[in-house]
Amino acid sequence: MVKTFMVSKCIGRNVEISKDHPRYRSLVIRERMGELMERGVVARTGLIAHGRGEAFDYLIGERTIPCAARAEEAAAAALLEAKRPVITINGNAAALAAKELVDLAILAGAKVEVNLFHRTDERVERVCNYVEEVSGAKVLGRDPDAILPGIASDRAKCCSEGIFTADLVLIPLEDGDRAEALVKAGKKVIAIDLNPLSRTAVVAHISIVDEVTRAVPNIITHAARLKNDKNARRAILKSYDNHAALQGARDAICAHMSEGAK
Ligand code: ATP
Ligand code: MG
Repeated sequence: MVKTFMVSKCIGRNVEISKDHPRYRSLVIRERMGELMERGVVARTGLIAHGRGEAFDYLIGERTIPCAARAEEAAAAALLEAKRPVITINGNAAALAAKELVDLAILAGAKVEVNLFHRTDERVERVCNYVEEVSGAKVLGRDPDAILPGIASDRAKCCSEGIFTADLVLIPLEDGDRAEALVKAGKKVIAIDLNPLSRTAVVAHISIVDEVTRAVPNIITHAARLKNDKNARRAILKSYDNHAALQGARDAICAHMSEGAK
C-alpha cells in the first residue's frame, strides 16, 4: 500500500504525496511555497528563484557537502563573535525557515529584519506577520528609516536599528546587488545560496552552499556548541577559507555529475 501524507489544509487544498517518493521532501516544500505564494508571503518570481535553488541542490546531491558544513560552523562562530548581528528574511526565507531563522537569531543575540525585493508596504506587513506568527518573536522591517547606499531599488530601505548599523548580516537567498552593497558598507556577510557561481555567493565572506532548510538547523547546532567557547570560535574563524568553500562546492557538483554519468 502506498503511504501518503496530507500536505496542505490551510487554503482548502489537500495534496497527497507518497512518503516513498524519491522527491518527497522537495515536493512537500514546493507545496508549501505554492501555498504561501497564494497567501502573498512568497512573490510569484520567488517560485522561480526556488526552482533555480532546487536545480543546484539536485546537482550537489541534496545533502550538506563537507565544505558547506565547515561554512556553517564558521557562520555560527561569526554570528556569536559579532557585536550587532542581523538576520535578514525575505519571502522565500520566511516560507522555508521562519521559525528556525528566529531561533538562530535568539541563540546568537541577533536582530531579525524583513527586507523584500518585491516590496510593497502590504507585502512587508504580510511577511512580518507571518514570521511573527510562526516564531512568536517581533521582527524589524515595517518602518524603514535608513537607506543602504549603492542599491537602485526599494531594497535599499532598511532600519537604522537593524541592517543599517549591523556589523554582520546573514542573508539567506539574497540578490547579488544587495549582497554587494552590504559588503561595500563594511559589513561581514554570510550568505546561504545553493549556487556557488551567484554574485551573492562570490561576494560574501562566508558562503554556505547548502539548502536553507538544512543549513539553518546545522548553524543552530554549531552555535549551541560554540556559545560559551570563545577560543574555539576564534580558531574556527582564523582557519576558515571561503575560496576553498566555493571551490569545494564547484568540485562537488562536478564530481556528482560525473558519478551520475557512469
Ligand atoms: P545573483 O547572481 O544576483 O546572486 P541569483 O542567482 O542569486 O543572482 P536570484 O534568482 O534572485 O538570483 O536568487 C535565488 C538564489 O537563491 C539562487 O542562487 C538559488 O540557487 C538560491 N536558492 C533558491 N532557493 C534556495 C534554497 N531553498 N536554499 C538555498 N539557496 C536557494
Ligand atoms: Mg544571489
